[in-house]
Amino acid sequence: MNVHPIMVGAFASNCFIAHNEQREALIIDPGDDADVIIQHVRREELSVAAILITHGHVDHVSALAAVHRAFPVPIAMHPVDADWAFSESNQMPPYYGVPDAPEQIERELSEGQTWTDIGYTYQVLELPGHSPGHVGFYFPEQHALFSGDVVFQGSVGRTDLPGGDGRVLTQSLKRLAELPDETIIYCGHGPSTTIRDEKRQNPYLSYVANRKP
Ligand SMILES: [Zn+2]
Ligand SMILES: [Zn+2]
Repeated sequence: MNVHPIMVGAFASNCFIAHNEQREALIIDPGDDADVIIQHVRREELSVAAILITHGHVDHVSALAAVHRAFPVPIAMHPVDADWAFSESNQMPPYYGVPDAPEQIERELSEGQTWTDIGYTYQVLELPGHSPGHVGFYFPEQHALFSGDVVFQGSVGRTDLPGGDGRVLTQSLKRLAELPDETIIYCGHGPSTTIRDEKRQNPYLSYVANRKP
């Protein structure tokens, strides 16, 4: 699996384009700058199979409707976040735009689902705490996790936005700490890292990994 990050928008979010040898692709978190994402896909001659959303915050869904119009393929998102993501309650000061709603969200994600797209099988992990309907996409064969805003290199997602909860986030971090060390974490902001590195250098992940239950 070839994974290409595109940094988009005022919050410098990572939109990831993951593709296989046949140039079939998944778009993860089209957060802003729809034109840049669409042009990248066309220039690389990729054929998009699905659009995956880790969570509903503006900086992860603001280009969703436009990208979906360009590539009308199934959108996968957790219904708990889809509920508020395209409404006034999704404003993030000092930026006051409400994301356009896509025509339809074909796949309602939930814990434990397994999906296969472009020849890769991945699991849906519910990882609430940063937002209530936050999910991670875990590709065990490819040792890859698209983790949205749950964990970053050296840090974790904020819990002060509506629906955020620090105790709930701690439970989600505990789940991540149980994934294989070699798992590559593709974060919603900043560089990619691994479970091994974060257990060593991330104070939050090392804390939950070493704490007795
Ligand atoms: Zn977020
Ligand atoms: Zn974000």
